Amino acid sequence: EYPIHAEITGPIVMIGFGSIGRGALPLIERHFNFDKSRMVIIDPNDAHANIAANHGVRFIHAAVTKDNYEELLEPLLTEGDGQGFCVNLSVDTSSLDLMKLCRSLGVLYIDTVIEPWLGFYFDENADNAARTNYALRETVRKEKRKNPGGTTAVSCCGANPGMVSWFVKQALVNLARDTAMNFVEPMADDREGWAQLMKDAGVKGVHIAERDTQRSKFLRPQNTFWNTWSVEGFVAEGMQPAELGWGTHEKWMPKNAKNHKKGCKASIYLEQPGANTRVRSWCPTPGPQYGFLVTHNESVSIADYFTVKNDKDEVTYRPTCHYAYHPADVAVLSLDEMFGNGGNAQPESLVLEEADILTGIDELGVLLYGHDKNAYWYGSRLSIEETRDLVPYQNATALQVTSAVLAGMVWALENPEAGIVETDEMDYRRCLEIQSPYLGPVEGHYTDWTPLTDRQTFFEERKDEKDPWQFKNILVQ
Ligand code: NAD
Repeated sequence: EYPIHAEITGPIVMIGFGSIGRGALPLIERHFNFDKSRMVIIDPNDAHANIAANHGVRFIHAAVTKDNYEELLEPLLTEGDGQGFCVNLSVDTSSLDLMKLCRSLGVLYIDTVIEPWLGFYFDENADNAARTNYALRETVRKEKRKNPGGTTAVSCCGANPGMVSWFVKQALVNLARDTAMNFVEPMADDREGWAQLMKDAGVKGVHIAERDTQRSKFLRPQNTFWNTWSVEGFVAEGMQPAELGWGTHEKWMPKNAKNHKKGCKASIYLEQPGANTRVRSWCPTPGPQYGFLVTHNESVSIADYFTVKNDKDEVTYRPTCHYAYHPADVAVLSLDEMFGNGGNAQPESLVLEEADILTGIDELGVLLYGHDKNAYWYGSRLSIEETRDLVPYQNATALQVTSAVLAGMVWALENPEAGIVETDEMDYRRCLEIQSPYLGPVEGHYTDWTPLTDRQTFFEERKDEKDPWQFKNILVQ
């Protein structure tokens, strides 16, 4: 009854069996032909080993570490005939080292974030520039330049980073159509063409605009951190510096903003934690809202991908791009409590599972702003109820991620020699075709809201009244 999209001829090694790994398992089972006796899951936490057993999948109770990864993984990835597939859905394992190993063995690879080995995020000896996603991404881009082509490794293919890069292209095409632009859609591999289209469409920037309204059945006790996906992942990225792709239309920069000296230079970072940095944004359900400017790979990759340069290699156009995330209410309260306590995470944490959630949706899309029609949100409005009908073991947040992993795996199997790629570099139409059945309503909404709309006037604020879409108006100061 479900379409089989491709065949995996060798072993499947899944690293990490947390909220995303558990959710990805039934999708892999459903949509690929493969030999289940050759699938293995590795996780140092065996709390959910029974789920693997119920699915007839081998479980190895171990941590993948800098010291053991080659010895542990190589035999698993190369066992028997065919081409293996490594699906990395863990925290604290180096994406770069794992993708290098896989590519050297001719094994396909996918992850949802560029993870470093344990210790990176809270390394007190590293300066803030070194703790950015820019720095992490540059390591993977460098490897791509050094070793172009070869076995496909898909980097950062979750919901965001991941799916949202496909949404940006779909939104851009819709906008070009709705503003009656005379255009031809660029080919999948025509980066310059896509960047020029965004420039011609007059897009000043892109928010990854998300509102998670999923509500727990239970009250969050004090001194606990609750979230709808990895608490460890969210706290780690939330304590990295706020980071954003920095557009060419910006006239003002926060005092604590810093540029990078090396690499693509598409982004800046602020000397403050992202999860304690608020921005004004817009989603269909709440309308205007505050979101957190948490750093993400896509803030850098989208700004980089849509950069236009002249023949002197000078940047003539780049969109501003950042996350504007309103997590589930319990997570907002958890953050408030954490920062109230000096930025120290609570000792207890909980990732709300499907059964813990009463109701709500994860509304995750992209807001393209500054063009002739002002602003356009395009994204998925997936509810917990619809998620339950579609798949086991996950909430709406997780399904947006796991279905992107599914799409990325299909694309990798169809393009096995594409080298290291980010989702911006993949065929968005094919990926959304695979993913869309799992996204609930996928909709586009125009809005006349700007960050200056209905601002109170009791207190003087730092604003640019003449240019509504300046970051100065978006950042809550
Ligand atoms: P989780 O915390 O629920 O699970 C992570 C799992 O990794 C845990 O089971 C943990 O025991 C395991 N793990 C920890 N150290 C390990 C090691 N050394 N070797 C193997 N496994 C190890 O997290 P999650 O919600 O499942 O998220 C998994 C990953 O996906 C995280 O890196 C997260 O940042 C990422 N993610 C990406 C997106 C996206 O949209 N791109 C969204 C959600 C999560």
